[in-house]
This record gives sequence, structure tokens and C-alpha cells, in this order.
Amino acid sequence: MTCDVPAVGSIDARAYRIPTPGPEADATLTWDSTTIVVVTVRAGPVDGLGWTYADATCVPLIRDVLAPQVLGAPVTDVPQSWEAMRGRVRNLGRPGLVSCALAAVDLALWDAAARALDLPLARLWGRVREHVDVYASGGFTTQSSEELAAQLHAWTRQRSIPRVKIKIGESWGSMVERDLDRVRLARQSVGDGVELYVDANGGYPVGQARRMASALAAWDVTWFEEPVSSDDLAGLGQVRGHGPDVAAGEYGYDLAYFARMVPYVDCLQIDITRCGGFTEWARVAAVAAAANRDVSAHCAPNLSAHAGAATANFRHVEWFADHDRIESLLFEGCLDPAGGTVAPSMTAPGHGLSLRPRVAADYEL
Ligand SMILES: [Mg+2]
Repeated sequence: MTCDVPAVGSIDARAYRIPTPGPEADATLTWDSTTIVVVTVRAGPVDGLGWTYADATCVPLIRDVLAPQVLGAPVTDVPQSWEAMRGRVRNLGRPGLVSCALAAVDLALWDAAARALDLPLARLWGRVREHVDVYASGGFTTQSSEELAAQLHAWTRQRSIPRVKIKIGESWGSMVERDLDRVRLARQSVGDGVELYVDANGGYPVGQARRMASALAAWDVTWFEEPVSSDDLAGLGQVRGHGPDVAAGEYGYDLAYFARMVPYVDCLQIDITRCGGFTEWARVAAVAAAANRDVSAHCAPNLSAHAGAATANFRHVEWFADHDRIESLLFEGCLDPAGGTVAPSMTAPGHGLSLRPRVAADYEL
């Protein structure tokens, strides 16, 4: 019996920018497009695919800085490759784009490793569960009441997703009455049987966020994401206990950040395409478990689902409208969140997704 695995032969990265259907905004940012950086790792006969939602400047970082650390390594030795990349970027600064680039390579390596072993990714990592809960996410502050109601209707009635999230905190928390009007509209649109979440993207000051938490509880809102800036850990803690669970963590790029944050939130959000990939995700989830907290996946739904299936203290995947649209456009083999859960395939090797090169070419930067 031989146990050889192929070595990493090549690593490539390309960036694609996909326009949004119209202007979109949350409490503290507006945007009209989303950039995705896609990494392909070739190891023997297989290609692994990873990605991050980050700026195109990740491309030269991946090609010129990270790839040389990994080429020639056994494809399944992902933790060793990850440590080599982390060591190389010390003087570049780990948080931010560097960590996003690291994540995309890490995820492509894990996918290639699983394909080299002819295993589904969730089989390689080891499943805790077959089905992963999802929540639908969008509800941008730029939407009209009719557009918001239509989106909520599509999620809950057409796709039968029993958890939804909308944006509040419009214009840095300066439009509280409209925020509450939209929450009321959302509750009335989805009915009593659907979990309703809100995301203020750090738009409120602490006192206002505490008052909002009480008002949100009246509409049975059970998740209050970034009620204040996620840099204000004490402020996050002060909003807890006023009704909804407090969640944050989407700007977490390294383990120490999450370790500092975990005492101040009810649920820790991890973005697998920002935090350094699955290698760091698993350690972050362990930090949360040690504090008796769940984790929830921020965005990148078709990658996050596999990690969710392999993580014990996992709550749900954010099925973010923009990323759902982009992944369904660019990749073959996407999961369908209809019914409110997804089940990573146990037959397709890796994460089961492949790039549609002819479609993607139209969006390449
Ligand atoms: Mg958020």
C-alpha cells in the first residue's frame, strides 16, 4: 500500500468584479459591485478552488508572496503550508487583505487535498451533521418597502427559508424611525413563524443600540448584529441582555481577535474567506467552544456550508443575497438553500464546485 499524495504544482489567482443589480447600502457603506478573488491550486491530476470576497490587490499577493511558500508541498499538508504562508507575511501585516489572500489559498488547498483523496470536503474534515441551517440575508437600506417585502416573500414563501436578516442603522444610525418601520414591515411580511434578524453594521452609539435592542425585542427580533462598532467590545457587551442575541466577528482576521471578542457576544461570526480559511476557522470555533459560544458563518455560503457541517458549535450560514447571486453565476454545483438547510454533497469530491470560465471571463479584471 502506498500513501503518496501529489505535490502542489501551481497556484493561480484571478479577480472578477460583478456589478450589483442596483445601488446597495447598509448602515455604514454603499456599494455597486462586488469583487471576488478566485484561487486555483493544481496538484497532480486535480484542481482545487478557493476564493475570497476582497480587493483585486490580493492577486499579486497570492501569486508572488504566498504561492512560493506552498509550491512543491504535499497537497494534504495544508496546516504546514498555512504556517509557511503565515510566517512569510509577518512584516506585511496579517489582518485585512493579507488574511483574505491567505484564506483563498488555504481553501483551494483543502479542496485540492480532498479531490486528491477523492473525498468530499466535509468527509475529509469529518461531519458533525448532515444538514446545515441557513438564514437568508439582504434587506438593504436602499430598498423601497415594496422591494423589501418582495425579497422577504421570495425567501420565506417561495424558498421556504425560516430565518431572514435585514439591514438597519441607516445613515449611521440617524434614521431610527425608518429602521423601526422596516423592522415592523419585515415582521408583518414574514409572519410569526420566521426568525427575524437585524444587522446594524456598527451604525449606532451604545445608548441608542440598547434602546433599539428593547424595541427590537417587541418585534421578536432574536439576532442583533454589530449593534455598535465591532471595535467597541465593551459596547457590544453593554447591548447584550436587552433582548436579541448580540453577534459580531465578520472583520476577524486572526485567532487573537476572536479570542478578545468572544466574551462580549452571544454568537461569534466567522468569515471563512477572511479569517485565513478553514485552518484558522477550526481554531476560532474551538476558542468559541471554550467560552460556551456558538459560531455562525458570515457570507461565502457555498464554502461556509462545508465548514458548518464539520463544526460542533455551529449555528447557521448567512446566505447573503450578493454572494448567492455571484456564486450561482460563476460556479457550477452550488447548493440550494430552499427549505432552510443545505447538505454538502457526499458524492462530489472537494466542495463540488467548479468555475464557469466562459462566464467568469466577462467579469475578469
Ligand atoms: Mg454583518
